Amino acid sequence: MLQRGMRQIAARASQADPVISLIRCCSSGASDPSSCNPDFTSLPKALVPGHQALWNPRTNKGSAFSLRERQALGIHGLVPPVVSTPELQEQKVLRNIRGQASDLDRYVQLMDLVERNEKLFYRVICNNLEEMMPLIYTPTVGLACQKYSFIYRKPQGLFITIHDLGHISDIIAAWPQDDVKAIVVTDGERILGLGDQGCAGMGIPVGKLALYTAIGGVKPWQCLPIVLDVGTDNEKLLNDPLYIGLRQKRDRSEKYDQLIDEFMKAVVSRYSYNCLIQFEDFANNNAFRLLEKYRHEYCTFNDDIQGTASVAVAGVLASLRITGTKLKDNTFVFQGAGEASLGIANLIVAAMVEEGLSIEEARKRMWMVDSRGLIVKNRASGGITEHKAHFAHDHEHIADIGQIVKALKPTALIGAAAIAGVFTEEILRDMASFNAKPIIFALSNPTSKAECTAEQAYKYTDYRAVFASGSPFDPVTTPGGKTLIPGQGNNAYVFPGIGLGVTLFGVRHVSYNMFLEASKACAELVTDKDLAEGRVYPPLKDVREVSIKIAIRTAEYAYEKNLTSLYPKPPDMEAFIRRHMYHYDYLNYEPEFYDWPSQ
Ligand code: NAD
Repeated sequence: MLQRGMRQIAARASQADPVISLIRCCSSGASDPSSCNPDFTSLPKALVPGHQALWNPRTNKGSAFSLRERQALGIHGLVPPVVSTPELQEQKVLRNIRGQASDLDRYVQLMDLVERNEKLFYRVICNNLEEMMPLIYTPTVGLACQKYSFIYRKPQGLFITIHDLGHISDIIAAWPQDDVKAIVVTDGERILGLGDQGCAGMGIPVGKLALYTAIGGVKPWQCLPIVLDVGTDNEKLLNDPLYIGLRQKRDRSEKYDQLIDEFMKAVVSRYSYNCLIQFEDFANNNAFRLLEKYRHEYCTFNDDIQGTASVAVAGVLASLRITGTKLKDNTFVFQGAGEASLGIANLIVAAMVEEGLSIEEARKRMWMVDSRGLIVKNRASGGITEHKAHFAHDHEHIADIGQIVKALKPTALIGAAAIAGVFTEEILRDMASFNAKPIIFALSNPTSKAECTAEQAYKYTDYRAVFASGSPFDPVTTPGGKTLIPGQGNNAYVFPGIGLGVTLFGVRHVSYNMFLEASKACAELVTDKDLAEGRVYPPLKDVREVSIKIAIRTAEYAYEKNLTSLYPKPPDMEAFIRRHMYHYDYLNYEPEFYDWPSQ
């Protein structure tokens, strides 16, 4: 019965499902279980195939295996007698996580869970997104990267070092999944606001890809986290005997570019040109440079530049419904002229061009401030890179942000320089004196780096500010008793949806316009009720729906530009997307379930 059941599972199930492929592989009598999946290397070879379902996190249901499944798979007695519902398992996990002493402990518990029971992990994340996102992503993931060498347990992705030059395709070939469609890669040099974390930056690709699945519904076996270890300039790590990365200074020679080049080629040679490569947490100079170098030739984007831009512009577009203005009526001052600010400014320019302005006219409405003050033409102190030069206007140089705000009287003030508290009471009061509804975005992360708190932004503008932040802030109550809920410009509103659209429809190229489409899709989902509460983003709990809308927009745009590989175009895009999204429901392994009547 067991063998018949397994054969039927194997025969009838989708070729693409690795779980089923695994069972097929084992039930076909493969002599070495480790040839089916590396997770089995620790198993005695004599184990019957059904045991694989218990030890593989992708198939494991723990105490939720039914009695029939336990008998059929030969695992009866290997799990406790109780048969749990998935709902009960979820409650148990939640109780366990909430009982931990710190967020880092909670992170470790969650990483343990995903390595034990993947479906249960995603059930817990998806059903408790607002509680779990800060644990698997910012801010806890930052702490996890700092402690990664301690908490590292088993491989969750690939480690490629500068010494692997010439052999990168061998490493890519070692990854056990053939169907990878999305890679998140970092070189660990600028991990969140924490600087160089070297090889320990691996926590970021792992966290981002967990959100690809939890929010974007991209299947976990289609996701591959990669760290490119070229050394680190972080002395603390170099002196730490437990550090898991290369113990050398960052290689900044031409070998760095050779490594990236070889890496890109090795990826497409195994996974095709449709494989999405998301660059994450590279330092400023490399981030811009590599994006420009590869964006036309590969299916790639940089989330710190383009994803951030898309999320911020979504918030700005929604804000316009509160201020009652057109985008082109606004003047923006950016505190910071790095990846985030330049990305946002360029996307706003693209949106203003859609409103009928020329690029030059649009750029004139953007002002940038960096560590040397206002960026103006021929600035004596210099420091104006090619990217900043687009926003260097004829104006006297002013060093102080307070004086800049007084002189330029912007309608919108965007902070992304990680200078805590720089939006002072005076600046906020000034913004409220020029504008009926000033737009104030304090985007710097983590919370301790925010330019101002939500409470300050509201209080010093007589509760007229349209506010959003990078890190979450608690709701604020006005003196009149109204509750304002600050928006959080979380990148997770956008990149999982772009990833879903790109991977599902085989999009070959990610263009800037897709990010603008994503901004519009996200902004359109902000309801009048949300706006009345002060929110310029949809509630975070609805982020999966945002992803679906963004995936549709991404794909529609790609079909229009002939950039997809999936033909014919599905007549009902939304239904197609929903049908293909990953779901955390357990598969049924009861033989009868697959024992369909013969013709
Ligand atoms: P970056 O290193 O590329 O840029 C930082 C910029 O700040 C540089 O232009 C630098 O010149 C400028 N700067 C430094 N000191 C300054 C000073 N005293 N006055 C004015 N400008 C100064 O970093 P980035 O990727 O642009 O990120 C900046 C911040 O934005 C970080 O805190 C990051 O966490 C945050 N961020 C938020 C989101 C989000 O909310 N969704 C997304 C990405 C980045």
